[in-house]
Amino acid sequence: MDEKDYFGSDRKLHREERKRKKDKDRSKYKKSDQKKYLKALDQEIASKTRKEDLKRGRVISIQSEGIIVACEGQNYRCTLRGLLKKEKTNQKNLSVVGDWVFFSPSPDFEGVIDQIEPRKTTLSRADNLSRNKEQLIAANIDQVLITLSVYSPPLKIALLDRYLIATKKGGMTPIILINKMDLINRDEEQKNLYLQVVNLLKERNILLIPLSTKTGEGLDRLIKAMQGKSSCFSGQSGVGKSSLINATLGLNLPTQETVKNTKKGAHTTTNATLIPLNCGGWCIDTPGIKSFGLWELSKEDLVSHFIEFTLFTKRCKYPDCSHTHEEPCGVKDAIENGALPRLRYESYLSLLEAVSQEHLRR
Ligand code: GDP
Ligand code: ZN
Repeated sequence: MDEKDYFGSDRKLHREERKRKKDKDRSKYKKSDQKKYLKALDQEIASKTRKEDLKRGRVISIQSEGIIVACEGQNYRCTLRGLLKKEKTNQKNLSVVGDWVFFSPSPDFEGVIDQIEPRKTTLSRADNLSRNKEQLIAANIDQVLITLSVYSPPLKIALLDRYLIATKKGGMTPIILINKMDLINRDEEQKNLYLQVVNLLKERNILLIPLSTKTGEGLDRLIKAMQGKSSCFSGQSGVGKSSLINATLGLNLPTQETVKNTKKGAHTTTNATLIPLNCGGWCIDTPGIKSFGLWELSKEDLVSHFIEFTLFTKRCKYPDCSHTHEEPCGVKDAIENGALPRLRYESYLSLLEAVSQEHLRR
């Protein structure tokens, strides 16, 4: 036996012994038991933390120096209680902007988060394809303020439909803001389109607020709609989102007039923050649903969104009729005889085109 063999077998012995010990440990604490043990410990600690010592607050931003929790007009720099961190979920982030939490405060406005309340809605990053690595950006956003404008940029109904679909997917309530109403008389066609949008939204029971940051029209209605809610502004660039935020919230965000060369990549930030409003609501400062994973369109999305078409599909020859080239087609007939507005069909066609293009890109 040479030296190498000797040490080799010794090492092997050690290894075997270690393995035996490990197995023994493992049998003592099986994975599920370990989980139970941690949970029991967690409950024990939780029961020792008196509820009256905890404060309820809201996570407004996540920074390298801690989780910032707003509570009673103060900001607390918090950490997560150790055991909360161990509760491994498949979500990478244990706490996100918008979470309601219970925390135990300590002097100097620091604190330890003890519990995170179940989330009503969640928004995740759009460019993360792997589901189990979902990257949350915000939680508990109630409503999307879908912002459009008349004349410049012009009102586009297909875009409105697309925002409505995405908002529904995220489980949030849509509110439509039509800005630049001071320009409505500049163009007959735009005025006509606006009136059709008013009707369409009335039929669907969706709140519409006509606005102008130039004349002040609608601003008080907008503030009222944001009271006590968590809102997220969304809409094409140039429609006046920053101007509206500044006008309603008394903030001073840069608008297109102040920033001439806005970089496109500037919107990829994940550092969302939640702004507490004087009126008792909240507003998230991200550019809106377009950057969350809700923007992709499927054929099913279209079928459920253009629900009024189903009244006429009985006369389509094929059950999966796309209402484009097929004959006979009940939807096309309804458009011809005026039972369905042409505007709805045009919006449908343009979104159907978007679906097939997205399909090709994948
Ligand atoms: P954002 O890209 O959606 O944030 O839009 P901005 O707030 O930067 O506004 C884009 C442009 O529209 C700016 O030049 C604003 O001054 C202008 N604007 C904003 N609101 C109104 C409005 O109600 N009427 C008119 N005529 N222009 C507006
Ligand atoms: Zn059809």
